[in-house]
Amino acid sequence: MTGHRILLVEDNERNLKLVRDVLQYAGYDILEARTGEQGVELAQRSSPHLVLMDLQLPGIDGEQAFRLIRDDSRTSGIPVVALTASAMKDDRARVLQAGFDGYLEKPINVRALPAQVLAFLSREEPNR
Ligand code: MN
Repeated sequence: MTGHRILLVEDNERNLKLVRDVLQYAGYDILEARTGEQGVELAQRSSPHLVLMDLQLPGIDGEQAFRLIRDDSRTSGIPVVALTASAMKDDRARVLQAGFDGYLEKPINVRALPAQVLAFLSREEPNR
């Protein structure tokens, strides 16, 4: 147990399971959402310490869900990290421009993931 809750918003079952299993094994509490709408609602309800947000989702996409999280005072301080497809080079610049706190490229490097997540959790909260 690290005592940290991480909200994972991902519609691809294999990716969801992979990331969830790795992070649970590392001691994190994982909350799951499969759509952007669910992710926003769960972020409001359960105040996770970090959100990992897939970009391509059914319904509203990851960027729209991110904006809703940022624009709500209940969730505006939660760091949100995008899950981007490594082939989509434009995605990286776009998510940083949009204000995401960072990105992780898919396919996820399972060995590196726990330390990457810890690094995002350990950052000083920037002024927003
Ligand atoms: Mn997706």
